[in-house]
Amino acid sequence: MRLLILGGIGEALQLAGALASTHTVTYSVAGKGRIPALPGVAVRVGGFGGVEGLAAFLREQCIELLIDATHPYAAQISQNAALAARLTGVPWWAYRRLAWQPEPGDDGRSVTSWSGIMTALQEFQRPFFTIGLEPLRHIAEIPLNQHWLVRCLAAEPPMSSRLTLLCATGPFSLEQELALLQKYWIDVLVAKNSGGGAVEAKLIAARQLKIPVVMLERPALPTADREFNDVSSMAEALLNRPISDSADTIPHVPHCTDRMPEIPGVE
Ligand code: NAP
Repeated sequence: MRLLILGGIGEALQLAGALASTHTVTYSVAGKGRIPALPGVAVRVGGFGGVEGLAAFLREQCIELLIDATHPYAAQISQNAALAARLTGVPWWAYRRLAWQPEPGDDGRSVTSWSGIMTALQEFQRPFFTIGLEPLRHIAEIPLNQHWLVRCLAAEPPMSSRLTLLCATGPFSLEQELALLQKYWIDVLVAKNSGGGAVEAKLIAARQLKIPVVMLERPALPTADREFNDVSSMAEALLNRPISDSADTIPHVPHCTDRMPEIPGVE
């Protein structure tokens, strides 16, 4: 079967690796982070050009199943996947990470927007932002009594003495997160509810140090034809599906008979 996996997180790589020997897999990344090398998998880099572009790719490449395995906060590409699937009739499945669950005693404060974050931070002085680049767009808003620590993959050094930038790529261990929170005298953590083991360490560290967490809640995502929250059950469901005979016509794409199209932009 010809699969297009929209990736960008570790579990998407695991899925692509698990299916590479039984399916024809194209793995797509936006190109903002590391470009993976996956044996037996075609990796394409960069946006498709919106819904129409993604729909055209599905048709041209005779994709039989679209898999959204993007980050839970990558809402635009998930919306595009839903609409492109509807336009083309290509079935689509989604991998949806389970959310982080607070425990009794955790001091979690749920917000849904940047202004919600700023309001929640009013009583603190040393916030630690782990929500990407967004805080760097608001440097002018740093209150006089606050110093921000911002961790992201990469960014230009900020023009503010009230902000420290850490450019770093995880995962980070619990020991590293505990040391960081203590070194910078952090009194509140600002995080996304990304889920996934790789980002849990900072939340566990905050719990251990009794540091409150301002949690930016997940955006709403469209519902896929099938949804999974663990990679192995998704891979198993796909391994159990019959692999299409290349001589057969793919039902939803009449021109896709026995040809194997070239994939532009593939590395
Ligand atoms: P987004 O806002 O949902 O998407 C913005 C645009 O980037 C999309 O419209 C699409 O461009 C392109 N794009 C996104 N994912 C793509 C993919 N897998 N393959 C090809 N094009 C893609 O996404 P984002 O929040 O900027 O995240 C970008 C990528 O980083 C995602 O793949 C996501 O899995 C990964 N990521 C995101 C986060 C996060 O916190 N947002 C964290 C870790 C990893 P076109 O419209 O031109 O097709």
